Amino acid sequence: MTLQHIAVIGAGTMGSGIAQTCAAAGHTLLLIDIHEQALGRGLQIVQKNLDRQIEKGTLLPAQAIETLQRIHSSTHYTDLDQMDVVIEAATEDLLLKRKILQQVDTHARLDCLIASNTSSLSITELAASIKHPERFMGIHFFNPVPIMGLVELIRGLQTSDATCSTAGALIEQLGKTAIHTQNRPRFMVNRILIPMINEAIFVLQENGDAQAIDASMRLGCNQPIGPLALADLIGLDTVLGILDNLQTGFGDPKYRPAPLLKEMVAAGLLGKKSGRGFHVYS
Ligand code: NAD
Repeated sequence: MTLQHIAVIGAGTMGSGIAQTCAAAGHTLLLIDIHEQALGRGLQIVQKNLDRQIEKGTLLPAQAIETLQRIHSSTHYTDLDQMDVVIEAATEDLLLKRKILQQVDTHARLDCLIASNTSSLSITELAASIKHPERFMGIHFFNPVPIMGLVELIRGLQTSDATCSTAGALIEQLGKTAIHTQNRPRFMVNRILIPMINEAIFVLQENGDAQAIDASMRLGCNQPIGPLALADLIGLDTVLGILDNLQTGFGDPKYRPAPLLKEMVAAGLLGKKSGRGFHVYS
């Protein structure tokens, strides 16, 4: 199956990154958002990223122009009948996504793959919004999309093998690596990463030395950034939200958030974005 025409729904952080990545790989891209302003902002993000690549010498100005020319934008769902793939990357809200998927289902061709970039919602539950759940699956990109090499592919209960292999082919065309994972809370990467960060916070409660904890994982495990510094980067409120999600989703107390994490979030110490988390930022 040819995968020439791709639509991305939602022109925010992720949608604009997915749009850029697809267009850079040669796909014709339709970026849809309900807000005209969001489309403008999304296209500006793409332009900025491409300019940065030109400055670094990793992209020719002509290639940047070609990429931008392949991206079209719209506030309507009506053009979806031309699409081979539709990737939903709108605001993380179950009811909103269900409504969007119902509209996509109405307009998209029957052989169009429909996917969601959700980080936390059940793929099986989202699939129930459309008439043919076998053509739906999770395609979970990482931020920033143009840079990160991994994509998680998540099957819902009724996702077909054909849908899975089409998604795999797409990710290969984008030059990224796909890993297949089950429809479990937070899929694979965050299910492993966030408990590790939580454990680092438990250790911090005992020994109080954030620098030592981060150094131990950087130098002892060759991680590019220590777990506490990474938590600061992600945002401590986001880390807490993911842990709550894991604990509720699995019903397993091993995911309980460290009390210090809860306290820091309550105090408004959210990491880099608030100027202070486990480390101080100027
Ligand atoms: P965002 O807030 O930056 O962008 C969401 C966009 O969706 C906005 O532009 C908004 O106008 C648009 N939108 C809202 N309702 C819409 C509708 N009915 N039709 C079309 N567009 C609509 O959000 P984001 O960070 O880009 O996240 C998008 C999705 O990607 C979420 O499901 C999130 O869980 C997932 N995700 C986010 C990250 C991340 O690091 N931000 C990483 C992986 C996955």
